[in-house]
Amino acid sequence: MIDKKIRHVLGLSGGKDSSALAIFMRDKVPQMEYFFTDTGAELPETYEYLDKLEAYLGKPITRINATRTFDHLLKNQYNNFLPSPNTRWCTRELKIKPFEEFAGDDIVVSYVGIRADEDREGYVSTKPNIKAVFPFKEAGLVYADIMRILNDSGLGIPAYYEWRSRSGCYFCFFQRKSEWVGLKERHPDLFEAAKHYEKFDAETDTRYTWSQGESLDELEARSEEIKRNVNQKSQSLPVKSWQVTLASIAEEETDESCLICSL
Ligand code: SF4
Repeated sequence: MIDKKIRHVLGLSGGKDSSALAIFMRDKVPQMEYFFTDTGAELPETYEYLDKLEAYLGKPITRINATRTFDHLLKNQYNNFLPSPNTRWCTRELKIKPFEEFAGDDIVVSYVGIRADEDREGYVSTKPNIKAVFPFKEAGLVYADIMRILNDSGLGIPAYYEWRSRSGCYFCFFQRKSEWVGLKERHPDLFEAAKHYEKFDAETDTRYTWSQGESLDELEARSEEIKRNVNQKSQSLPVKSWQVTLASIAEEETDESCLICSL
């Protein structure tokens, strides 16, 4: 019997933890394959950061695209139902399936950037040929260590942390209302593009909106109010740099759902 080669893979989301893990592992597993599952709707800042990370790693980051785009799936497979926290078909179709196809039937060790101070598992494939390992947990590395790894590398954290707490699609329904305002201000074209997905069905009087309880047009009309609320809240917090504030906001998130998109 011929022994199957073991592949070592590390998935990058464009988020801080998986990026720090890539830096941490760079000289430890020389045969590591780095990959990024591209939904086709990622933020420009994510692509820029991945280019810098690729230069730092000195190795290519394989970009994996789903065989079918978000628009194709929305129209042809999901009957124009936008994904939501309860029906999260986008993660399965655009992130998980492409990763499992990339792994194929090979024996794969998948490196996952969950930290020692996190009580969550992240996405672990159920395919028997894929084994997940957690180097940060094994080394006892916590949030402050991850920030130090990123700063020491000179890469820092991605620029979207100026206005958003995590990576993922520009239209991600996990965004806070203030992050939608950030998208409108930083990428007005993407904000407008996101609006085009929303729908009002007059027959059933049903609305399909990205943000809970209001359309993006309505949210846009409340932009100043949303910003005022955020400013009031931030005045009550200890003074920190924007990077630290937003990165720590992401830490408060507990939804396991988006972990594969934003780890
Ligand atoms: S980032 Fe958000 S919208 Fe994009 S695949 Fe993940 S959960 Fe879905």
